[in-house]
Amino acid sequence: METTPATISPAAAGGAHRRHVTVIGAGLVGLASALWLQELGHEVTIVDPSPPIGNDPWQQAASYGNACTFAPHGVVPVSTPGLVWQVPGMLLDPASPLAINWRYLPRLAPWLRAFLRAGREAEVQRIASTLATLFSHADTDWQPLFQLAGASHLLRRKGCLYLYKSEAEYKAGEYDNRLRVQHGVRLTRLDAAQVHALEPNLAPLYHAGVLHEDAYTIDSPQQMGEALAGAFQAKGGTVIKGAATDPMRSRTGMEITVDGVKHTTEHIVVAAGAFSGRLARQLGDPILLDTERGYHVMFPDAGKLVQRPVCFVQHGFYMTPMADGLRAAGTVEFGGLSAAPNPVRSDVIRTQVGHLLPNAGASGKTWMGFRPSMPDSLPVIGNSPSTPYVTYAFGHGHLGLTLAGVTGRLVAELVSGKAAHIDITQLRLNRFSRWGGKI
Ligand SMILES: Cc1cc2nc3c(=O)[nH]c(=O)nc-3n(C[C@H](O)[C@H](O)[C@H](O)COP(=O)(O)OP(=O)(O)OC[C@H]3O[C@@H](n4cnc5c(N)ncnc54)[C@H](O)[C@@H]3O)c2cc1C
Repeated sequence: METTPATISPAAAGGAHRRHVTVIGAGLVGLASALWLQELGHEVTIVDPSPPIGNDPWQQAASYGNACTFAPHGVVPVSTPGLVWQVPGMLLDPASPLAINWRYLPRLAPWLRAFLRAGREAEVQRIASTLATLFSHADTDWQPLFQLAGASHLLRRKGCLYLYKSEAEYKAGEYDNRLRVQHGVRLTRLDAAQVHALEPNLAPLYHAGVLHEDAYTIDSPQQMGEALAGAFQAKGGTVIKGAATDPMRSRTGMEITVDGVKHTTEHIVVAAGAFSGRLARQLGDPILLDTERGYHVMFPDAGKLVQRPVCFVQHGFYMTPMADGLRAAGTVEFGGLSAAPNPVRSDVIRTQVGHLLPNAGASGKTWMGFRPSMPDSLPVIGNSPSTPYVTYAFGHGHLGLTLAGVTGRLVAELVSGKAAHIDITQLRLNRFSRWGGKI
């Protein structure tokens, strides 16, 4: 892990031209971008129909319903060699962590082609190395924001436990674990007795485990969002409640429309998570962004049964202890942004938790949200290739909580015209053009 502290001070503005910047989206990526932009001296407005402020629900944001885990072990992209052979079996098994709404398949096809292509060995190495670079700054770029927001007490540093049910499954996981080690992830291999010593309340359905040491959790993403938004407002930031539409160039800079009212601004940051695609298209930048829908089920009385997020790899979700119980969150459903949640998907999680954590008790609320997913598991962070005064920050897939801090700092650097503290060439929006032109 990189240890250089990401200092926040007014001097950090470094004399950059102070601009009025409008951030579209108040998920973790938008909030972190807004705070870093303020730190570099800009005047910032956030636009979001449901920001984490007051009594407003934040549930539309993936940042609300995730598995609460800062996960620098996530260097393994979703698409890996051999996945293509596993997918048909997984789609046919109703209890598997992967599902598809078949009616959505035609629309998903271009994304799926790029997804499979991203799973080739050479691509996987490139992607893992890019993610590892981002992770090496992810904690140091989050910490100043947590402190600014007075939210450091929400962090719980106990790592994250991956469990394998059989020797065969453990061996199959070796590709991922080797990739992690190769890219600097600290992990400890555990036998069944060691797993039991760490997490005695789990049903003994595991054969072996791996503890990812550098992972930590956020006790309540909702409280974290409120704290970040509060810090933003306390520093003079403005929040407009409403959906931004029709971003475009105006005579004086940029313009967006919110609930029929036009707003002018000098620079736009598109950080609307899975909903960023339409805005990017309107700005002249077609993009292969889709969504991997994820689910969570709460178990209000089970918050103390495990000490850290536990993931039985086969089932594709985390069981994370948090302030208001245990959250079982994850799985992937391809189905786009408009279809209603599929209750079968939360039933699958509920049933598995009953087996894995027998004393979990009754389940509570369920939730479905939209991971903003690029086919190569890398976010888009960069300036628009076609419209000046537009910066993109979306597509964080399974890793947006982990990568929001470093993304925010990069966004602020880009808007300020400063050199980015990380090479972000691999994150450019039009990176797929080398695979065959336009999308
Ligand atoms: C089940 C699940 C588990 C996950 N677990 C983890 C985990 O443990 N660790 C991790 O690092 N990541 C995890 N993730 C991924 C992570 O939650 C996302 O990558 C991250 O939240 C994306 O943040 P975001 O700010 O880009 O988007 P979002 O959080 O989705 O926020 C987008 C915001 O944009 C707003 N918006 C949309 N359209 C407009 C518009 N037109 N105008 C204005 N605002 C608009 C929305 O209201 C929303 O508030 C998980 C995701 C899911 C679904």
